[in-house]
Amino acid sequence: MKREVDVLVIGGGVIGVCAAYYLGQQGRRVTLVEKGEICAGSSYGNAGLVVPSHSVPLAAPGVAPKALGWMFDRDSPFYIEPRWDGALWRWLWRFWRSGTEAHVRRAMPLLRDLHLASRGLFAELTRLEGMACSYEQRGVLYAFNTCVGLAGGVAEAERLQEAGLQAQVLDRTAVCALEGLEVSVEGGVYYPQDAHLVPDRFVRGLSGHLAGQGAEVLPHTEVLGLVRQGDRVSSVQTTRGDFAPREVVLAAGSWSPLLAAQLGLSLPIQPAKGYSITFKKPAVCPAVPLLLGEAKVGVTPMGELLRFAGTLELAGLDLSLSRRRVAAILRGVPAYLPQLDPAALELVEVWRGLRPCTPDGLPFLGRAPGCENLTVAAGHATIGLSLGPITGKLVSQVVCGVPEMDLNLLRVNRF
Ligand SMILES: Cc1cc2nc3c(=O)[nH]c(=O)nc-3n(C[C@H](O)[C@H](O)[C@H](O)COP(=O)(O)OP(=O)(O)OC[C@H]3O[C@@H](n4cnc5c(N)ncnc54)[C@H](O)[C@@H]3O)c2cc1C
Repeated sequence: MKREVDVLVIGGGVIGVCAAYYLGQQGRRVTLVEKGEICAGSSYGNAGLVVPSHSVPLAAPGVAPKALGWMFDRDSPFYIEPRWDGALWRWLWRFWRSGTEAHVRRAMPLLRDLHLASRGLFAELTRLEGMACSYEQRGVLYAFNTCVGLAGGVAEAERLQEAGLQAQVLDRTAVCALEGLEVSVEGGVYYPQDAHLVPDRFVRGLSGHLAGQGAEVLPHTEVLGLVRQGDRVSSVQTTRGDFAPREVVLAAGSWSPLLAAQLGLSLPIQPAKGYSITFKKPAVCPAVPLLLGEAKVGVTPMGELLRFAGTLELAGLDLSLSRRRVAAILRGVPAYLPQLDPAALELVEVWRGLRPCTPDGLPFLGRAPGCENLTVAAGHATIGLSLGPITGKLVSQVVCGVPEMDLNLLRVNRF
């Protein structure tokens, strides 16, 4: 027997939970299914950064050639597990082709608006009862220890300033003063509008508010099949029975293409594995989160923790943990932060997760073509935490009426 439900949200990461929350705010009865624990996927151990400063899409001029130059070096920040996989090579081709100046010019204003709107929502959501996720609006410092790196950082800052975002170029002395410790750099760019938090505490805290809105949260409930009848999803088959939903929201991160394919829908999303290593916060610790420009490592002091995060590895849906890549992340740190020796810190957790990456660096957000009760919200790559709240709000508007922003660039059938 099928259970009739109003809106079925698939995926209990930051996107699914935020979508469920805002749907509840619109008075919809939500059932959220998650195959593991809530926040078991990429949303758990990420760097926790809310980043209007990431308003340049990942697919930008020069990025693909640089990334492909690194691709077979196991210790580099970007790595591709060499294999014959048609979907991967098609994705790489589209990634290469998307990295144009015209694409950056089109995408930047939208990304800026999404990040800034999301940041406003973070400020509201983190004030809800029980949201102890150490949210702080202290900005993020991009630190560079080569002249070439700094020049690239400054050029990007100018671009973001032209788009209306705040950025301050700092010399070494100002960088050290901002961080309250020695930072060995040529200089840095400080983005005061950025913020940070402990991501799993945010997602789990918000999911705790769903029951109060009358939503049903079902962890350990895996979607096995999606059945289509005409232009509607008629049935969602799970390990805990079948559902007949009025509306379906697909927010299954890197696993979304597998589920979409059952409906004949192609979503070009490649999982990009990244790692984080979390320690107890040491006595000597940066005051403001850093992105180490050349090493491509994020350093986030969050609550009583200090987290290092990095690497981007296209290895499919493979969650194996490479200790070599973990070591490569930590090796890069002392060159920038000589007072921080990761070997002397008290380890809390080593983690890996799969960023759901689209070829043009923009998420999919909108109704699925030819499937009128299916809304897709997936493919947020390196900015899914940052865009979580605004994505959730826009999903609720797509399902209930008209979204407050023009989402044409994010349409599901753009490839
Ligand atoms: C190292 C690292 C650092 C990062 N740092 C940042 C950062 O600082 N700022 C930022 O904005 N972003 C960051 N990101 C990216 C961010 O983590 C992701 O974009 C975001 O978590 C994606 O959220 P999601 O809800 O789409 O996916 P997920 O969190 O992966 O959630 C998808 C959920 O769907 C569930 N699911 C899958 N299949 C099924 C099924 N069949 N049935 C039921 N449930 C299913 C999964 O179990 C999972 O819980 C980082 C990522 C990594 C890896």
